[in-house]
Amino acid sequence: MKKTVLRRRKMSGSAAYAPVYIFVLFAVCVIFSAIFVCHFFQKSPTHGDFMHEEKTVSKDDTFLPSDDTYVGMPGSTSKNENTPDTENITPYESERESGPDTEAKANVSKDSWMLILVNKDSPLPDDFSVSLADLTGGHRADARIADELKRMLDDMRKEGLSPIICSSYRTNDKQTQLFENKVRKYTADGMTRADAERAASMWVAPPGTSEHQTGLAFDIVDKSYQLLDEKLEETPVQRWLMKNSYKYGFILRYPNEKSSVTGINYEPWHYRYVGVTAAREIYDSGLCLEEYLKAYAHGGI
Ligand SMILES: [Zn+2]
Repeated sequence: MKKTVLRRRKMSGSAAYAPVYIFVLFAVCVIFSAIFVCHFFQKSPTHGDFMHEEKTVSKDDTFLPSDDTYVGMPGSTSKNENTPDTENITPYESERESGPDTEAKANVSKDSWMLILVNKDSPLPDDFSVSLADLTGGHRADARIADELKRMLDDMRKEGLSPIICSSYRTNDKQTQLFENKVRKYTADGMTRADAERAASMWVAPPGTSEHQTGLAFDIVDKSYQLLDEKLEETPVQRWLMKNSYKYGFILRYPNEKSSVTGINYEPWHYRYVGVTAAREIYDSGLCLEEYLKAYAHGGI
């Protein structure tokens, strides 16, 4: 008798929960359908990490940021940060996005504008020109990377850091002036002109051989320490840059242990844009740009 009553209670309990089971089943179906639709259109937030980091402004665009979008303005937001903008993605970027990370190497070409090698052995061509974007403080950058630079600096500020660009794009005249100033200091110390030029070139690239003439290189210091010496590497800004700049396509261009390859002394302040794919591979491999171009990138002819 008791067993019969218990069985009836159980049955009536199960029946009472039936609408709940149906609702849960329906909810699960809705969630899976939503995930499928998001995935299909590639708008899932999980795809956003690297998808839009290399977006560029086309060469013909004139980038004159309004007051609230200046590079370096605290609290400003990048127009690219959350807005997919596939129209401006170059073929290089489209290829990279379509393939898995393991295929990234195949998409890095020496011919890519963002991998241009500029050093004493590889001067800029005489007819080199670049479309520039204005930054705050009278600085200028290659218009194609201005948004990425701005996004990196904005993200640093969001974390309470105070980065300052102290050098950006330079004209050939400006580079000549900086180089001559350095040479003069050495000749004043008694060096011959040839020796002075050699010594100066370890600190300031001779005209035509400076990455600053490309608009892709920037000297970034910490507000708390603005001297261009090795102590800069201990500042919060430099620590952040060394750890995170590759995510934005930038590399520490002249690492301490690579002076014999780069021909430039250690410069913890000098960051160069090479694109997210190359920056990540350079960061992971520990190579400098010269070594990376030999070992990884294809093409060039
Ligand atoms: Zn520099």
